[in-house]
Amino acid sequence: MRTPTMASSTAVHDLPGTYNNGLHRAGMMPLVELEDRYSRQVLFRGIGGEGQRKLAASSVVIVGCGATGSTLASLLARAGVGRIRILDRDYVEPSNLQRQSLFDEADAADSMPKAVAAARKIAAFNSEITAEAKVEDLVPANIDQLLSGAQVILDGTDNFETRYLINDYAAKNQLPWIYTAAVGSYGVTLNVLPGQTACLACVFPELPHGAFETCDTAGILGSTVNLAASIAATEALKLLVGAEEQLRRTLLSFDVWSNERAEIAADRPRPDCRTCQRRDFVHLAGEGRPYITLCGRNSVQIHERHRPLDFSQMADRLRPHGTVRHNDFVLKFWREPYEVTLFPDGRAIIKGTSDPAVARSLYARFVGS
Ligand SMILES: [Zn+2]
Repeated sequence: MRTPTMASSTAVHDLPGTYNNGLHRAGMMPLVELEDRYSRQVLFRGIGGEGQRKLAASSVVIVGCGATGSTLASLLARAGVGRIRILDRDYVEPSNLQRQSLFDEADAADSMPKAVAAARKIAAFNSEITAEAKVEDLVPANIDQLLSGAQVILDGTDNFETRYLINDYAAKNQLPWIYTAAVGSYGVTLNVLPGQTACLACVFPELPHGAFETCDTAGILGSTVNLAASIAATEALKLLVGAEEQLRRTLLSFDVWSNERAEIAADRPRPDCRTCQRRDFVHLAGEGRPYITLCGRNSVQIHERHRPLDFSQMADRLRPHGTVRHNDFVLKFWREPYEVTLFPDGRAIIKGTSDPAVARSLYARFVGS
């Protein structure tokens, strides 16, 4: 049996969703003076003092905080982007540490939600900006609330379903977004500038071939994803400081192992594009994900969002049936051969099966039907 390693329920308490500036709150001087912190970046001609002030007043959303999202968040937070909202539905596991640069062993041992762990890590290295954690699954029902206020949306997801949803939202609201994906040694990225360039559906009207190959099946090099995310973060900086003429208008792909590299023109929309030309937002109009979806290898996600759980009560109920641990963010329940992770809104990730029927019956039996 896998040994539960999560800390006890007393692990974490003082946790609002937003992290910033503890030193200012405490009435102390900041440890790092702003001019010193950004001095090397301000020296760079593309940014300068004015660009730095624009970054401080900027707001971005990063959807998904695995490897790509970690690097995006880390680079943009260190660069001084004033407000960063981080969305992620998952929790940190040991297999993430090879490439997901914002997390450490304690996060994995505690099964910390990635969004919360990322925001905490950011607060530790830049207390002058605001990092906001949202432990949520992006669906049509919550997309307005989760993506509102962003000047740029950044893709840290691992699936095309969510990317098409972001693409619909961005086209509808005339917001720029940056597509980034990586698997194995292959990385790809595209800037989507509304009214100017091709959108994701212009380039991939249907799910692209090979989209089903994931990090769970093909593996991934940390360097691949860090390179792809570094390029995307740089494009975001250009957007935020207004260096429009420097923005790349191609679909860029590369393979860091075979050294292949390609660019496909994406500087204008496809005339018959359903999304950005006909403005038919099918993904936004959809009911969203089905109630149950496969979620990586040998695991299933149950998208219940309307069953607020009291973890203490739930732990008491489950204890006779297996091993239970919880903190403020997740409750884990081990019962051979399954591992059930519950979130406070009732969402669950069930490991040990890829059969939705098995997952549904486990959920109904132990959480509620
Ligand atoms: Zn389009």
